[in-house]
Amino acid sequence: MPYAIRCGDVMPGCAAEFHADEESDLLDHIVRHATEAHADVELTPATRSAVQEAIRRVA
Ligand SMILES: [Zn+2]
Repeated sequence: MPYAIRCGDVMPGCAAEFHADEESDLLDHIVRHATEAHADVELTPATRSAVQEAIRRVA
């Protein structure tokens, strides 16, 4: 699971954390999570790039 993201890095106060083998899978997870848990947050290009910047490579 080399890719990880903490939702709280993009949406302060959220404790959700995701791991995936592929960056694109990770994006799918976070988009699904955002749709369910942050329905009030619009997924703008700025939000997407903030999400991409928050993605970390874990070993
Ligand atoms: Zn979240």
